[in-house]
Amino acid sequence: MQTGEENSNSERLVMVRYGELFLKSEPVKHHFIGLLLRNIGKALTAAGLNGHYETPRGRILIFGDEPEKIADIVSRIFGLVDVSICIRTRGGIGDLCSGAVALASAHLSAGMSFAVRAKRQQKTGLDSQELGAQIGSAIYEHIPGLSVNLDHPDYEVFVEVRDFGGLVYDSRITAPGGLPLGTQGRALVLLSSGIDSPVASWLAMKRGCEITHLHLDGGRWAGCDVKSAAIENHRRLSRWCAGYPLMMVIANSEPLYDRMQELRIPPRYRCVICKRFMHQVASRLMAHEGALAMVTGENLGQVASQTLANLSVISEGLTVPVLRPLITYDKEEIITLARRIGTFDTHPGDLACRAVPKMPATAAVLEAILACEQKMDIDSIVTRACTELQYVTALNCEIVSDTSTPLPGRTND
Ligand code: ATP
Ligand code: MG
Repeated sequence: MQTGEENSNSERLVMVRYGELFLKSEPVKHHFIGLLLRNIGKALTAAGLNGHYETPRGRILIFGDEPEKIADIVSRIFGLVDVSICIRTRGGIGDLCSGAVALASAHLSAGMSFAVRAKRQQKTGLDSQELGAQIGSAIYEHIPGLSVNLDHPDYEVFVEVRDFGGLVYDSRITAPGGLPLGTQGRALVLLSSGIDSPVASWLAMKRGCEITHLHLDGGRWAGCDVKSAAIENHRRLSRWCAGYPLMMVIANSEPLYDRMQELRIPPRYRCVICKRFMHQVASRLMAHEGALAMVTGENLGQVASQTLANLSVISEGLTVPVLRPLITYDKEEIITLARRIGTFDTHPGDLACRAVPKMPATAAVLEAILACEQKMDIDSIVTRACTELQYVTALNCEIVSDTSTPLPGRTND
């Protein structure tokens, strides 16, 4: 029996499974799989890797020189549910046994238990149980001192016999699921230095949205690490859309706080006015960025500005969709996701907002807020914020353009 991972009858490849696409009609599924392949290709090219594909039912097989690197990259592609590095065999049961023994030898030693999980597509030849038993015997004979434990094994090897050949693998890397990036159009994400909005951005990407980030820079009113932490969030999120140019727009919100102070706007209203301002800036920039919706990391009841009463005042006057993917999440759930995404930091520096009052209003009255905004001539502050923009790529996180040209001044290409 051959025990090398590759021989003339076997090759290593990366197999990915997609999930929800199964629910789509045939033409839509076909279209979405095309987008998945495009996204995989973009991500591999961005990493300097090459691959070619086969698309048997329910799977995508990726062939390339560096399967480990390919698997790592594609495990961050939305629309995929899991990824395995496989040995594909062309011959019969002998090749499947060789492949399984080769994988098992690297992980098993005397005293350990194992299980073979076998499946087959064809209705002729060995059935799944017989297949599992034969492969199990091959492993058992080759590595002394093992035991079989089908319920809680130390090690599992998976074998599939399909019409395109046999597949042997022993790991499944969890991919994010969702829908392929690019299936839903673009959203403008209000991205802060915090924990929540990066998770909201990731969730919008997960449902197929291409993203542009918008950060409001409070200048001397913001903690000195706020802007750099927001840019770092932007950079980390770019790992999830490899091959897509992820752009961040930074608008200046310092004049808003200056004006509130200058006009002695009641401090308790500041947070609601600030959030209404951010939403107004976002809604004006949306068309310019080609976005169909804005996304925020707002969450019901998390902070004073996010009571249901305040959220309704914040949304007043907006004529564009506002997506709040985290609205019902608990903080712990958000943190768990942030850790998984790679945007959670325990020591993020000085992120305090110097404008936050001691006692923010939890049920701001719309009329009172509108009166303050009128006094401040809020429109002119929004307009100014929309004209002085900086653009930051995710690649090197440098400011690539700095414009004081009134909108519309930038195209999306
Ligand atoms: P996060 O909610 O992202 O953890 P945060 O707690 O600093 O950040 P909140 O006061 O909870 O911010 O703001 C609610 C939402 O408003 C944020 O999730 C984000 O979408 C948006 N937001 C807040 N500050 C900014 C900012 N400086 N630039 C852009 N968007 C912001
Ligand atoms: Mg928050």
